[in-house]
Amino acid sequence: MKKIYLSLLAVLLTVVSLQAQDKVTKKVLELGKTDNRTMEHAQYIARNIGGRLVGTHMLNHAEDWVVEQFRSWGLDVQVQEAVVIGVGFDRGPWSGRMLSEDGMMLHFGTPAYTAGTCGPQKGRVYLEPKNQRAFDRVKGALKGSWVLLETGATSGLAIDASAKADSLRAAAVAEGKEVAVPFYRQMVEAGVLGFIRPAKMPMQVLYNRAMCFDLTMDTLPTACDILLDEHQFALIKQKVEDRQDFQLEFDIRNHFFPGPMKYHNILATIKGTQYPDEYVVLGSHLDAYDIATGSTDDGQGVCVTMETARLLAAAGAKPKRSIMFCIWTAEEYGLLGSKYFVEHKTIPWNKISNYFNRDGGPLACTSITVPPAMYEDFKKVCEPLENYNPDIPFTVNKREGEAQARPTRAGGSDHAYFAMNGIPAISFRESDVFGYDFNYRDIWHTEDDLYDKLIPVYMEHSAVVNAVTAYGIANLGHLLSREGLYKE
Ligand SMILES: [Zn+2]
Repeated sequence: MKKIYLSLLAVLLTVVSLQAQDKVTKKVLELGKTDNRTMEHAQYIARNIGGRLVGTHMLNHAEDWVVEQFRSWGLDVQVQEAVVIGVGFDRGPWSGRMLSEDGMMLHFGTPAYTAGTCGPQKGRVYLEPKNQRAFDRVKGALKGSWVLLETGATSGLAIDASAKADSLRAAAVAEGKEVAVPFYRQMVEAGVLGFIRPAKMPMQVLYNRAMCFDLTMDTLPTACDILLDEHQFALIKQKVEDRQDFQLEFDIRNHFFPGPMKYHNILATIKGTQYPDEYVVLGSHLDAYDIATGSTDDGQGVCVTMETARLLAAAGAKPKRSIMFCIWTAEEYGLLGSKYFVEHKTIPWNKISNYFNRDGGPLACTSITVPPAMYEDFKKVCEPLENYNPDIPFTVNKREGEAQARPTRAGGSDHAYFAMNGIPAISFRESDVFGYDFNYRDIWHTEDDLYDKLIPVYMEHSAVVNAVTAYGIANLGHLLSREGLYKE
């Protein structure tokens, strides 16, 4: 008799918990339509804060803001120091013009951690000397001038101004080998104001890792590293070849300051009621290049991840397993934040059900493809999404064919270190369902990564998809199966 009571009780508890689950899911679906705040977060992150480069004060400010938001929604927040950089770098405004009868404003950028001008600097322009004879001919005239480097359109990386790069260049010259900018150090010592290279449009402006982490206040770069619109570059080069008399003026406010500057992963948790030590994890990265505002890469990901957390908290979610929202640091510097999190086993690897990464275009989550052993679980969990928005249908697909081998090298985005260590890191497939002609490659790491590239309807929808899925997975009776996840 007692046994029957107990099993009746168990059935009753399951029914109650299922109803509670439905109530939370229902509420998330409703709030997703009536009170979706994804774009409020985006306004702040992409319009008010803007570029969020590792090394800058703005990234610290962005971290503080994210922490405060999560706390205001009632989540537990852990701030995990993951990156320290010895010298800080903040960017002010920059402008440049050609001073001549047919003068023009110049369209350019400078990689992060490269020199500014300390006020407006005017100078004549020379073509790069490519051999010793050519260098000797101009070395006395280089002081206070700009040098055009015919490197072909760049990828946005800075010229490596480190001592190590200098010795590699010197060795190549001594051996008569071809090398980019063979007389770089000699030109700097001759007193050039800076170097100008052609850039493809839209302009990409990055940095050079060798020049940030090893930098000290005594080894700051002194010559500017300017990436100029390739059309303007061609025009200026022609003028130099025609030996026309004109000057270029640049005013670049790139500021270095002593660190150490510290950057953090922000880990916000809704604690599980039955299996608090087991987790569903979602993440996106806060750091961003600073020629534009990092709106799509990865501002949109951060906004969607944050709204996922807010929707669940507002719906009163009390999942069986914990749900952790990770706002990573230093993705652009080599996945440093997520690497730290995984390698330090912040959560034991066998306690993570799945890691969902969001980093890419501001598109709609429209499907997920999972190994056969996960299929029934995902099918059940994602069922409420199938008809949530009839214009953006959602499907769960069973993976066909063999599993792929576990990746051995990190790359792409913050899912990499999870996947390399055998942790499920399956993400949603995202698409431009309404055909808004979105092309991430045109925006990624360029001056066009701006707020107006965001697509609210897709981002808002994705927050709901994330929330319903994460909550459902966290409420399963088991962790997701890892059977057939990777080829053994
Ligand atoms: Zn990114």
